[in-house]
Amino acid sequence: MPADILKSGPDSYRKAVKILQAGGLVALPTETVYGLAALATDDEAVKKVYAAKGRPALNPLIVHIFEPEMADRYGMPPNKTLFKRLSHNFWPGPLTLVLNQQNDIDISKTALAGLSTIALRCPKVEWTSEFTKLGFAGPLVMPSANRSGHVSPTTAQHVFDDLGDVVDLIIDGGPCPGGIESTVLRIYSDHAKLLRPGSTPTTDFVPFISDLRLPEQSAAPSAPGMLKSHYAPKAAVRLNATEKRPGEAYLAFGPTEIVADMNLSETGNLSEAAQNLYACLRALDKVKTIAIAPIPQEGLGEAINDRLQRAAADR
Ligand code: AMP
Ligand code: MG
Repeated sequence: MPADILKSGPDSYRKAVKILQAGGLVALPTETVYGLAALATDDEAVKKVYAAKGRPALNPLIVHIFEPEMADRYGMPPNKTLFKRLSHNFWPGPLTLVLNQQNDIDISKTALAGLSTIALRCPKVEWTSEFTKLGFAGPLVMPSANRSGHVSPTTAQHVFDDLGDVVDLIIDGGPCPGGIESTVLRIYSDHAKLLRPGSTPTTDFVPFISDLRLPEQSAAPSAPGMLKSHYAPKAAVRLNATEKRPGEAYLAFGPTEIVADMNLSETGNLSEAAQNLYACLRALDKVKTIAIAPIPQEGLGEAINDRLQRAAADR
């Protein structure tokens, strides 16, 4: 039976909590994209997430906490000062921090994929405090609510299109404001490393991290599960396109002379482009090739270009 889509609010949150406590799957809106949530301490529920998405078992899941203080229970930062500085300034928000695992944690082994590290994020959403008032404080695994490898969902309808038949409930909180997944940083004793650019622009870390290292440009993934082809529509993707060729759909960025099929942002605003990116890729996914205008590699452009390169990668 296809999942119900319920508008966010007290009644739907009550239903969501019941389902999560019973080991079910609920799609929830976040400030980045829609997530497919399950109780992170319930190995059977976590396995359902992998099955629903068709996600490779080697790809670990981010553990979502409802308050920054919960991090101590699960993670041991190799550099406490750096961790405090980052969690105080960026949580709740679209930043995932990779730490060493605390001893004997009750998180699903499946979600941790056999690693000695744990990725933690505290999302900036109204439902964390509402769930807590209902007596449920997580933690949740919550990867994007799409089939693995496909374009992430930024509306409840996108979730329904990908997972409508395997999720127990979809909470509709409207379009996600960020539109792109969280930034992932690993903390080491004397530096931090960017594992994935995302919704928190890398330049925002400059005042807080003296030694921030960027991923090496190599064929190997920079983090477990960071596959080269990902976030991909069915159509082929042609990047840095400055013309529309026959049979292509053209996705513009900023003012343009080209007769575009869609525009990520008429005014060339990168936040707006990030917000619109996945909805545009899904809407244009009826042609053989989607040609996409060049996006400046600054601010959120770094994360947008990362996703576009993965969408265009060989499959
Ligand atoms: P996503 O695919 O958006 O759910 O993001 C998951 C990504 O977070 C993975 O591909 C890893 O890069 C990172 N991650 C999750 N869990 C861990 C972990 N235990 N250790 C290291 N990185 C992790
Ligand atoms: Mg994803």
